[in-house]
Amino acid sequence: MSFDLIVKNANLPDGRTGIDIACLNGRIEAVEAGITAEAGKVIDAAGQLVSPPFVDSHFHMDATLSLGLPRMNKSGTLLEGIALWGELKEILTVEAVVERALRYCDLAVSQGLLAIRTHVDVCDDRLTGVKGLLEVREKVKDYIDLQLVAFPQDGLYRSPNAEKNLLTALDMGVDIVGGIPHFERSMEDGARSVKRLCEIAAERGLMVDMHCDETDDPMSRHIETLAYETQRLGLHGRVAGSHLTSMHSMDNYYVSKLLPLIAEAEVHAIANPLINITLQGRHDTYPKRRGQTRVPELRSYGVNVAFGHDCVMDPWYSMGSGDMLEVASMGLHVAQMTSRDDIRYCFECVTSHPAKAMRLDGYGVKKGGKADFVLLQARDSIEAIRLKATRLSVVKGGKVISEIAPRKARLSLTGRPEMVDPASYAPNEG
Ligand SMILES: [Zn+2]
Repeated sequence: MSFDLIVKNANLPDGRTGIDIACLNGRIEAVEAGITAEAGKVIDAAGQLVSPPFVDSHFHMDATLSLGLPRMNKSGTLLEGIALWGELKEILTVEAVVERALRYCDLAVSQGLLAIRTHVDVCDDRLTGVKGLLEVREKVKDYIDLQLVAFPQDGLYRSPNAEKNLLTALDMGVDIVGGIPHFERSMEDGARSVKRLCEIAAERGLMVDMHCDETDDPMSRHIETLAYETQRLGLHGRVAGSHLTSMHSMDNYYVSKLLPLIAEAEVHAIANPLINITLQGRHDTYPKRRGQTRVPELRSYGVNVAFGHDCVMDPWYSMGSGDMLEVASMGLHVAQMTSRDDIRYCFECVTSHPAKAMRLDGYGVKKGGKADFVLLQARDSIEAIRLKATRLSVVKGGKVISEIAPRKARLSLTGRPEMVDPASYAPNEG
């Protein structure tokens, strides 16, 4: 028996160590210790972590890498960001969207990020972003699973042609129904938009992913309507609520009623830690709220929680590098999830949890799974987050598609070691 690729002596996120992974024809054929078969290529993991690829379940690829176009966001607020994006939309071209998105995908691959769900603005009668990202989805399909969400950025009812454009985008092949109920003109319009959008998804057999309650207003309760409509239409497991930041500010009693509703409807919760911590609490003086949704509480009710990157170098966020470990790190800091178990959970929030929300097929380092994974310069998932570990090898379909040398520094200090390997500082947990 000869395989295409064998990775030797890997640690896995579930804690197994000394594992070999054998791949053939794009699939994982075996995950066990001591595989002795031949292979076209052998990688020695040397006791470092092999993880399934990073997954970003909330992104804006039509806007990424547009920082500074046509100007910078001076206040840094969500609303100036939306206004700025409105200015940029007027001058967008399909070619520019495609070029920036492909450049971002190159960066994503180098970061081991191989599945992305991106929202694409449909409040543009030319549907420039839709055309561009449909082209990109096709161009990157051999290395990135790209899902597109039809996102009425300016409001389904607030923007005159939004519903027509959204339906056109779905007809053109956009995968998922989006929404932004808190941006409609009234609570009633917000609730009505959730109902209508869920009905569109149910009629067409599609998933739903809404920007929901991305506000500090504790009375923004569209997640309740979203979970209710999910149940009413039998969309269990096919609906995601993104951001859900108003939950941070809600009354505890109300949340105690809301959490079981979300859990029963099997609505996925997608927090965006980097963005939530910078955009929320902007109307506060001090104390200043964090604004991230209630991650540990959602977890305790069995809700599937994912962390998204949301933005990289665009009108809303000038930072970011496609590094989902940075996202996980910010998520655990903001949620104060600092136990060893909590940190491992946060790693799952950028790997298996978003994979579940996106209903990815064959995901995971397991027999029969797709031969897609990342070798990290770290011993385990906690160390990977702590170090924002170097992605030594990124494997897609059993082939290495990105690699980089380990990050080690050469010291010139009398009486001290010549080399420092940051991954050698892992604690001994016995
Ligand atoms: Zn977003």
